[in-house]
Amino acid sequence: MFSKGVALNLSIAELKQRYRTRDRVIHAMAGKGTIRAAVVVSTATAREAQRRHQLEAVGAVLLARALSAASMMASFLKGEERVIVEAKGQGFIRTVYAEALQTGEVRGFVEYNPSVNGQTTPLGKGILQVRKILYNKAEPITGIVALSTGNITTDLAHYFWQSEQIPTGVRLDVTLDSTKEIECSAGILVQALPGADARELRYIYDFLSEIDSLCELVKAGYNAEEITRQTLPGDVEIFSSTPVDFFCRCSKERFKALLLSVGEEEIVRMRDAGQNELVCQYCGERYYLEANDFEELLNQLRSARN
Ligand SMILES: [Zn+2]
Repeated sequence: MFSKGVALNLSIAELKQRYRTRDRVIHAMAGKGTIRAAVVVSTATAREAQRRHQLEAVGAVLLARALSAASMMASFLKGEERVIVEAKGQGFIRTVYAEALQTGEVRGFVEYNPSVNGQTTPLGKGILQVRKILYNKAEPITGIVALSTGNITTDLAHYFWQSEQIPTGVRLDVTLDSTKEIECSAGILVQALPGADARELRYIYDFLSEIDSLCELVKAGYNAEEITRQTLPGDVEIFSSTPVDFFCRCSKERFKALLLSVGEEEIVRMRDAGQNELVCQYCGERYYLEANDFEELLNQLRSARN
C-alpha cells in the first residue's frame, strides 16, 4: 500500500523533530501594526557556513550573526528581492559577508586579513554596509555606518537608527560546542514603527534583556514561531514563516560563462599551467575544468571572433 521511500524510514516523531529543527525565519507584526519583528533560528545554516569555509570560532560566530541578520531583513522583502549585510574591518578579519533572499536562500563568507599578525581584534575599525536589491529600484539601496563595536549585533542596531531612522532592538545569539563548532544560532529584530506604544516596547525590551541568550530558548525546544509569540506582546500576526537554507546559485556553467570575459589568452594560460580549479567565494564550492571545458570555452571565443 505504501511505496518504498526514504521518508518511511522516519517515524512521525522523527519527522516532527526534523520539521522543528529546520532553520526558519518568521516575519511578524504586533501592536496592531506598530511593531514589526523577525525571528530566525539559523543553526544548521551557520554550521554549514562554518563547515564549507572551514572557519575558526570567531569568524564562524560573526558570520552566523550576519547570516541571521540578513535572513531576518530579507523576510521583510518580496520574492527574489535580497539583502546583503557586509562588515569590513582592519582587524584579523577583513570581511564578513552575508546575503539572503526573501525565499530563504542565504550564503556568506569570511575573509581573513593576511597582512595582520598577532592582531586579536576581529574587525576593529571599519564599516557596516547594508544593501537591498529591490524589484522597483534600478540601483541597490545602500546604507553605511561606522562599526561601533564590530560584534555585528550593536552595529546593526546602530545602522537601523542612523541609516533608516527606525528604533530597532537586535539580538544575534550564537553558542559554540566544546569543539568550537556552531551549536546554536538565533536572532531577533524588533522595530518600533510610527505609533508604537512605549509600554509594549518596554515589555519587549525587558523580555529580551531578561534572557541571557535566545539559544536558551532554542535549547529548551522553542522553534522560531514559538520564540516570536513568546517575545511579542498581545496579538501577534505571523506574516510569513520561511525555511532558511545555506544555498548558493553558483554552478560550473556560470563560472564558465564568467571566464569568457577574461579572454582567450588567459584561458590558454590557465589550461597550460594546469589551473583548473574554480572556487566559489560565496559558498566555498570547488569546480574543476576538464580538457573539454577548456576546449569549449576556446571554441566559443574563437567562433565569436569570426
Ligand atoms: Zn557558490
